[in-house]
Amino acid sequence: MALQALGRLDENRTPLTLVDKPDPVPAPGEILVKVATCGVCHTELDEIEGRTPPPRLPIVPGHQVVGQVVGHGPGAERFKTGDRVGIAWIFSACGDCAFCRAGHENLCPDFQATGRDVNGGYAQYMTVPEGFAHPIPQVFSDAEAAPLLCAGAVGYRSLRLTGLHDDQAIGLTGFGASGHLVLKMLRHRYPKARAYVFARSMKQQAFAKALGAVWTGGTEEEPPEPLNAIIDTTPVWKPVVAALGHLAPGGRLVINAIRKEDDDKEELLKLDYGDHLWMEKEIKSVANVSRRDVAEFLALAAEMAIRPTVQEFPLEEANQALVELRTRKVHGAKVLKVG
Ligand SMILES: [Zn+2]
Ligand SMILES: [Zn+2]
Repeated sequence: MALQALGRLDENRTPLTLVDKPDPVPAPGEILVKVATCGVCHTELDEIEGRTPPPRLPIVPGHQVVGQVVGHGPGAERFKTGDRVGIAWIFSACGDCAFCRAGHENLCPDFQATGRDVNGGYAQYMTVPEGFAHPIPQVFSDAEAAPLLCAGAVGYRSLRLTGLHDDQAIGLTGFGASGHLVLKMLRHRYPKARAYVFARSMKQQAFAKALGAVWTGGTEEEPPEPLNAIIDTTPVWKPVVAALGHLAPGGRLVINAIRKEDDDKEELLKLDYGDHLWMEKEIKSVANVSRRDVAEFLALAAEMAIRPTVQEFPLEEANQALVELRTRKVHGAKVLKVG
């Protein structure tokens, strides 16, 4: 399923087209992967609508890929034929710049994103440098593993970046695929932390309560105590201003979004220095993921026996899955079943 042209999904509800392409050939150091499942991510909407546009078109999207190794490029020896691997948002980084050498390969100027800068997993086959593929723990089915590779790994990174301590209060704004995984991780890692979930639908709020949130409410609602950290996974600005108002002194807002949509940008004019920033409040965005985030999260997810709630679509119905994601019909994670 290839993206041929950028545009708004509400104007063109079928931005992806089923095309026949020759199987990709693995370059030196790469493996050929037969895709079993690929997760559907909000970032695909950002690519399609041009907020993080692919540098060239057509492109095959998809960066939560689970499949089997079926071929090797010259010199690729890390995996055997038949091994199950996962491919995440990080497709490659230079390995040599100051960021890469300091363990911040997610910030590498040559960072390449799967399914944006190179063809991804909305396809039967894809290639990837072997060092950027991840063994998938056996406990997970293909469909369960897919959303762990993005929503899970980025959620793990977001939680790390909050600097949260056990016994503190944390808020989650927006409660989609990443939010529900973060809440599960939180309960495991910081069992004494109190989780406050801001979500628009009653269904999402009930889901959050079932997963252990001590309080749920709408974005604008005042939580019963100031929060030491908040993770925002919404695509818009209004919750950012509200979240800053909910932070305790010294609190940190972590924004887990590749781009924000501009539709409600005027909400930022409500920003009041005294209410929203004074008292050493911090804002930090989450950019990409490193291989370490993916690998550590997969191990943690296996240990916790995280079982993401998934909704499967056939590959040909990728457009439908994207439209449902756009209209926020989110309950768990959407994955495309390919092989
Ligand atoms: Zn993603
Ligand atoms: Zn680099």
